[in-house]
Amino acid sequence: NYSAEQLWQMDKDHFIHPYTDFTTFAEEGSQVISQADGMHITDTTGKSYLDAIAGLWCVNIGHGRKEMAETISEQVLNMQYYNPFGHSTNEPGSVLAAKLAELAPGDLNKVFYTCGGSTAVDTAIRLVHYYNNIRGKNNKKQIISRNNAYHGSTYVASNITGIHGCKSNLDRIADSWINHISAADMFHRPKGAENLSEAEYTQFLADEFENRIVQLGENNVAAFIAEPIMGAGGVLVAPAGYHQAMHAICQKYDILYIADEVVTSFGRLGDFFASKSVFGMQPDIIITAKGISSGYIPLGAAIISDRIWDVVSDPKTGGGALTMGYTYSGHPVACAAALKNIEIMERENILDHVKEVGPYLQEQIKTLSDLAIFGESRGSHLMLGLELVANSSTNEPFPSEVGIASRVFEHCRNAGLIVRPVGNTIVLSPPLIISKAQVDQIVSTIREAINLTMLDLAN
Ligand code: PLP
Repeated sequence: NYSAEQLWQMDKDHFIHPYTDFTTFAEEGSQVISQADGMHITDTTGKSYLDAIAGLWCVNIGHGRKEMAETISEQVLNMQYYNPFGHSTNEPGSVLAAKLAELAPGDLNKVFYTCGGSTAVDTAIRLVHYYNNIRGKNNKKQIISRNNAYHGSTYVASNITGIHGCKSNLDRIADSWINHISAADMFHRPKGAENLSEAEYTQFLADEFENRIVQLGENNVAAFIAEPIMGAGGVLVAPAGYHQAMHAICQKYDILYIADEVVTSFGRLGDFFASKSVFGMQPDIIITAKGISSGYIPLGAAIISDRIWDVVSDPKTGGGALTMGYTYSGHPVACAAALKNIEIMERENILDHVKEVGPYLQEQIKTLSDLAIFGESRGSHLMLGLELVANSSTNEPFPSEVGIASRVFEHCRNAGLIVRPVGNTIVLSPPLIISKAQVDQIVSTIREAINLTMLDLAN
């Protein structure tokens, strides 16, 4: 029961917002979101918006499901928390682990629960290093990531992240064992690769990867980490065959492939996990979070292969003592929420729906290509990036000072639509329950917002 002014003041004075420029924020304050239902969110002024970013790539089953509230409340009343360290466990944690093992591809059968994506990335790296220590490969520590990748905000995950803007004010603690190679990005191919075909570009990137391994020494490289489609980097789609080619190189040099599926898992690309079914590649570790519980309660997990588990759990090799764990690893309320989330996805055939409405979204957004600043739309299913350019015949980018995507975002927001501006790209990742009519609404609102933005720029 606080007034809008009181809320604004408390927020401004005390709430440190993630990834927010405090200098401008102090002037503007924030919009308070107070209600959410289905595809929509509402702020404290009563204005409602179509949420085309699912909170932050996560509310996959849509907002405000009563069934989720009931499950969460039931679990709180039964047993809200007890630690799973040592020999105690809880029912939702065990059942969810078995379910994840069933859904994850191949022999990914062991689950380490975390509090979200960043902690799952850190967990995976610790596991990889531990795995190599136990195998007597103590120098095999180097991690290869990619420019423009996003892997999180804990210290190791943010070092592994390749988006330049996420790394200001960050000391490079792990410089000695973290490396970056090129992003797999068809739209912004580097000099020398502009005219390559998809297959040639895949080879170009694979060669760069292999050369880096050789340069670092194959006995020093532990893992390659990659998002199937880069999300926060601007929805960057790799050329065909890329993940398989990188995986083959990993196998050649005894390097583990970590697929960061924080965004791409739990339906966004039409399956529970995308690595195998969409990209034809069997990773050694999958990182998941976000859609696993549709954001109703925080949860993440690193799902690892039997092959890794057999080594790290074998007392004969010195394995067995995994000296890590979060208080909330396998939190019963979060796991119960995740189980209900998966049950809803299965019962409502949400993956089939994504396979139908996803291609429709990708197709409809291309109808904006007549707009003078349309650069490229890319993505897959319900993960989409629309890049705006200053000149659509040369694809000359807008200078960052123009803030082109933020301008379009503002016009969309005024018109009751939430999109996400990332650099010069408008990102869409709506709840998976989106209808075709809502796709049409999104596309026409973006058209109008781009037209208004072009008028602003002309004046
Ligand atoms: N990995 C990817 C691909 C992500 O997109 C994110 C978050 O956006 C993370 C890791 C970090 O997850 P969290 O914010 O839950 O720590």
